[in-house]
Amino acid sequence: MSEMHLKDALDTLKTTGVRITPQRHAILEYLIESMNHPTADEIYKSLEGKFPNMSVATVYNNLRVFREAGLVKELTYGDTASRFDFVTNDHYHMICQCCGKIVDFHYPGLNEVEQFASHVTGFQVNSHRLEVYGTCPDCVDNVDRKAN
Ligand SMILES: [Zn+2]
Ligand SMILES: [Zn+2]
Repeated sequence: MSEMHLKDALDTLKTTGVRITPQRHAILEYLIESMNHPTADEIYKSLEGKFPNMSVATVYNNLRVFREAGLVKELTYGDTASRFDFVTNDHYHMICQCCGKIVDFHYPGLNEVEQFASHVTGFQVNSHRLEVYGTCPDCVDNVDRKAN
């Protein structure tokens, strides 16, 4: 499954004329396999062993190339570091306000919300973004443990 995505992603890069360097290949692979919406820094840390000459700035530049090719989404949250998400099908984010973890979930019903919003406002809808905030099970456990 994840190999399919990687191959598709590489094909997309080829058609947009982006050169596929070993670093780009590794960053894409990491994004697809990690599924944890990493920051550029996290990607850098996990790949620096493989690419000693790579810098965080290189990782950023490559992520920007991927974003422009429509392969990744940049998730921005105020002042904190952006997180990067490999674009698969539409999905939404549950975000832990305690540790910052982001978990994907699917909810096809939001297409109806788009139609409804368009109907009541007369707007033409381009996209939407849904984020749900809470406390993840790990953080709930930690709080419980501290309380006891
Ligand atoms: Zn948490
Ligand atoms: Zn996601």
